[in-house]
Amino acid sequence: MIDSLIQFLNDSPVNFLAVQSIAQRLEEEGFERFDATTPLKNIQPGDQFYVTKNDSSIYAFRIGQQTLGEGGFHMICAHCDSPTFRIKPNAEMWGEGDVVRLNTEVYGGPILSTWFDRPLSLAGRVILKTDDPLHPITKLLHIKRPLLQIPNLAIHFNRQVNDGVKLSKQKDMLPILGIINNQLEYDNLLLHVIGDELNEEIEDILDFDLYLYDCTPACTFGLHNEFISSGRLDDLSMVHAGLQALIQAQPAIPEVTQVLAIFDNEETGSQTKQGAGSPFLSQMLQRINLAEGNSPEAYFRAVEKAFMISADNAHAWHPNYPEKMDPTNHPVMGDGPVIKFNAAQKYASDAVSAAIFSSICEKAGVPCQRFVNHSDVAGGSTLGNILASSIPVRGVDMGNPIWAMHSARETGACADHEYCIRAFRQFYEL
Ligand code: ZN
Repeated sequence: MIDSLIQFLNDSPVNFLAVQSIAQRLEEEGFERFDATTPLKNIQPGDQFYVTKNDSSIYAFRIGQQTLGEGGFHMICAHCDSPTFRIKPNAEMWGEGDVVRLNTEVYGGPILSTWFDRPLSLAGRVILKTDDPLHPITKLLHIKRPLLQIPNLAIHFNRQVNDGVKLSKQKDMLPILGIINNQLEYDNLLLHVIGDELNEEIEDILDFDLYLYDCTPACTFGLHNEFISSGRLDDLSMVHAGLQALIQAQPAIPEVTQVLAIFDNEETGSQTKQGAGSPFLSQMLQRINLAEGNSPEAYFRAVEKAFMISADNAHAWHPNYPEKMDPTNHPVMGDGPVIKFNAAQKYASDAVSAAIFSSICEKAGVPCQRFVNHSDVAGGSTLGNILASSIPVRGVDMGNPIWAMHSARETGACADHEYCIRAFRQFYEL
């Protein structure tokens, strides 16, 4: 499973590619793509299908023996976006010596300094012209060779660098693309890079959503290879765990309908058509309910009977910074998935949903931990409550403990990943 996770992380440098990786894996398991512009009809127990929104969120369904109104649904949610840098329009910036940089905009909340001095490249989607302005073509781009780097300032120019440095997103974080060799290269330089990679004419490139990613592949490390080191563990590790659980769950026709929802834009607040704040998933569930031949009212019964696991990574106790953690609730690496609590209700967990999740873990033979913020430290937020505002479902916010959340390279524990897949599979099989 760890090899499979590493492969998934390497194949998924950004949200669009993650959705493609998930879709391919689902299709290998017999899930069919549903086009949301077509009617959904004749749904039978055991049917498996998935739908995407904006190429950057994906929702998979396996229909149960019981209709939605009878059994509700078992849903696991996670997100496929991670902090990074978006390439701005007109991105090329020329400097002395014909060195060219790309103008970027920060996406989400990265630890900026971790992006220095690493081989980076570009991934995302490119939009191509057709005869119909309303329906351009989308092609995904994943440049696999190192293409860019953001060089640090030498210590000789900043002797205080190890005492803390304030970084400007606009000045300090611009990646170097290359040195211009001839006059022809000055025109549409980035478009030529994209066109060459996709084998398309630059006149046909209308626009793009492109992001930086760290080219260094994910790997394991540690005395017993007990850790995993990668970009985007938050939250692709939870995406992978949910996907594996859905694939492994038995029997082929479950008792209760299974849902895997992977949202985009969690790192920027989820309020997009492809984010957890969107009504899209609620509408899909209502369409499934109607396609099962049920009344519209049955959907509301389904929501009341359903349960959600909102899976997003948690903070592990860091041996170098123990003072940052709550004195009595500090999850440690390798001791299993973490239930997240917050008195201000930034997390969906409450005593009931936490009890349900810990019972699921117990049934799966998996240990389970609890996380609460140190009361003087403001924590993050996640998907559960945002989703609950459109689908008021019982649910728990949980995740595996990691170090260096939002670093270009985060650290997790292999054991926790295996535990999480077992717990998720148990949940789907209930
Ligand atoms: Zn996250």
